[in-house]
Amino acid sequence: MRVPLLDLQLQYQSLKPAVRAEVEAVMDSQQFILGPKVEAFEAAIRQYTGANHAVGVSSGTDALLAVLMALGIGPGDAVITSPYTFFATAGSIARVGAEPVFIDIDPGTYNISVEELDAYLVQACKRGRDGSLFSYSGKRLRAIMPVHLFGVCAPMDEILYLAAAHRLEIIEDAAQALGADYPSGSEVFRAGAMGDFGCFSFFPSKNLGAFGDAGMVVCRDESMAAKVRVLRNHGMEERYFHSMVGGNFRLDALQAAILHAKLPFLDGWSAARRANARFYREEFARRGLDNILTLPVEPYATTGAKNHHIYNQFVIRAPRRDELCGHLAKNEIGSAIYYPVPLHLQRCFSRLGYKAGDFPEAEKAALETLALPIYPELTQDQQRYVVDAIAGFYAGASSR
Ligand SMILES: *Cc1c(COP(=O)(O)O)cnc(C)c1O
Repeated sequence: MRVPLLDLQLQYQSLKPAVRAEVEAVMDSQQFILGPKVEAFEAAIRQYTGANHAVGVSSGTDALLAVLMALGIGPGDAVITSPYTFFATAGSIARVGAEPVFIDIDPGTYNISVEELDAYLVQACKRGRDGSLFSYSGKRLRAIMPVHLFGVCAPMDEILYLAAAHRLEIIEDAAQALGADYPSGSEVFRAGAMGDFGCFSFFPSKNLGAFGDAGMVVCRDESMAAKVRVLRNHGMEERYFHSMVGGNFRLDALQAAILHAKLPFLDGWSAARRANARFYREEFARRGLDNILTLPVEPYATTGAKNHHIYNQFVIRAPRRDELCGHLAKNEIGSAIYYPVPLHLQRCFSRLGYKAGDFPEAEKAALETLALPIYPELTQDQQRYVVDAIAGFYAGASSR
């Protein structure tokens, strides 16, 4: 049996007529850049996330970049984030000339550790006379960029509290978490709509995927939304008059139309991913593998929040991870390592002065984690086959 990590064909086959009609409508209109399809999708995302404003952009990376530019973050500034995330999170900070400051992760959720964040803000960083904070290297701390990794929200209550106490902006990297719920008191908020800004990616393999690159910025403040809107189009308000230096961060009408057609299915897909996660848990327990593997935690499962984890990835920790990965590949089962090298150890960031041992949890996660197939159309037969293969791997190991 073949079990790919992700199979986009199955979803496409079920959506083909609806999506093709949207594509045809855009082609008939011959309006490809921004316009009514983009505006309609922005409105839909605003409604879906509960955010005040939404601005369609060209990718998740450009969403982060446009927000940093809108805040005027650049050389002399620093932004706090996680070392255990996709490169774009810290890459965008470096690209505007600011310094990424890494804080270790929580080993359960793989999201930024609020204990470590608090310790850094209260003790470790430098303090100016007016109370503003500076990194070790003297860069002014401007923002926290929490990542909702794998589809579960970072502890936003604590992050919001710390950001307010230290006058920092919050830019949520919600690229893996569109639709993820975060329970706060008696209320439930959605990923991206809790901080000052939220950034989404519609890269094809994300839980809501375009037919190419696409992204979205959501934000609380109207004037900031207006600024991102101008920045995504070369800082141009009136044609050929440029008030700022922006970029070409525009969302294509084709992508917006396709995504808008797919959005109504997202909650169903998230529920299917959660059901698959539950089935893995049952099967791993039945086979006694839940003692060997560490399964994903669901910190908000008992709160009543529906989309408490949207399982953009189902990530386990496994002994002899690399060998297991090879064993699965031999059995035609797809798996992936998110992420093999934490960002503080990437060569391009060597100038930041971090070294191995600085963030033990991120480094440990990079050595131990493995993502298994979890896509909505995955069958129970396929899941049993995956669990069988993993059981076979560890049984073989113990009998040797
Ligand atoms: C995918 C991703 C991005 C970048 O999104 P693109 O659309 O690929 O540019 C940023 N951050 C995280 C955490 C991601 O997973």
